[in-house]
Amino acid sequence: MISLEKVSQLCYNITESYLSLNNSNSIIQETQLTLQNSRRDILNTVFTNWNPFGSKIAFSYNGGKDCQVLLILYLSCLWEYFYTFAQQSQYGMEYMQFPISSVSSVLISNDVNFLTMEHFIKDTVDRYHLDMYDFSNAKNSVSSKKNMADLFQDYLDDKSEIEAIVVGVRHSDPYSENLSLIDMTDEGWPNFYRVQPLLDWHLTNIWSFLIYSGEPICGLYGEGYTSIGDIDNTLPNPNLNTNEKHQFYFSEELKSAFNRNRNQSTEIGIDNGDQDFKVNLSNLDKSDRQLLHSYNATYYPGWYLIDEKLERAGRIKKP
Ligand code: FAD
Ligand code: MG
Ligand code: MG
Repeated sequence: MISLEKVSQLCYNITESYLSLNNSNSIIQETQLTLQNSRRDILNTVFTNWNPFGSKIAFSYNGGKDCQVLLILYLSCLWEYFYTFAQQSQYGMEYMQFPISSVSSVLISNDVNFLTMEHFIKDTVDRYHLDMYDFSNAKNSVSSKKNMADLFQDYLDDKSEIEAIVVGVRHSDPYSENLSLIDMTDEGWPNFYRVQPLLDWHLTNIWSFLIYSGEPICGLYGEGYTSIGDIDNTLPNPNLNTNEKHQFYFSEELKSAFNRNRNQSTEIGIDNGDQDFKVNLSNLDKSDRQLLHSYNATYYPGWYLIDEKLERAGRIKKP
């Protein structure tokens, strides 16, 4: 396992490498712009309000594609922030120590997750050195079902130093049109700042960057899931049923993916003649494989869907 410093540097290299792609592809060009804007927001606004090496800022992470993109970007900025500081120091880079060994993080798990997602979260918490808050330590936390706002209250009762929490929400998410980079929480929520550097990202930008990164992504996305909630309310996206032909938009990203030749578990992600190139997916748990089998249908991978109005079409409303 590489250190937080090393994985942050890796994320920085991924980001720089994506930005230097010389490509006439409009999705990549648009993603480069939005990536640059988010990076500037994080470095110039977020980190000047809350020192990322201090104790006032935390990262909300649920293993989904959006917060993974944001995490890669956040770690990239962490390294850039450190590097800039180290460059200005009178000592050489080799004498500077990365100030933290993990990133303060929070995961609210009041739902029943897919096991594939559980394992993916566990693996990426390790990979990205997330210091995940353990709710069993919270004073008022009981096993009865509390809503997300109440659980954040429990978290902050325990971690009162936290002022700001980074969230991977996008403008296209429900009720998110009017959010901005930094917002206070709504009424009914504990008071803290929501930090939202990914608002302007579209679904295409998310997939373009994530596929290019070569980082392992949750295996469920390879099976037609496009928005992953809990296991009782999430189906593969019906719009990706293999009854209909779909187009693959990210072959440039896949072919030139960062560090593509790393020897990691992969599954075939595309079927359009690019068989040599695979999206780096985490392993599918047996129970989820059985569940998928029971649907008697097959689906294109989640990244074949680029119309974000349909992103949540696999979510079932709870009765
Ligand atoms: P997703 O794409 O799953 O989530 C969007 C982002 O939310 C993720 O990228 C991740 O960063 C975070 N997130 C989602 N689920 C979890 C989880 N289980 N544990 C940790 N992080 C998670 N709603 C309001 O109405 N008013 C508020 O003031 C408000 N403040 C919030 C503050 C924070 C820090 C978070 C995480 C959520 C807040 N929400 C608030 C709820 C938010 O609007 C979404 O309803 C919620 O994040 C679920 O998102 P989703 O499943 O629709 O989309
Ligand atoms: Mg999302
Ligand atoms: Mg969710």
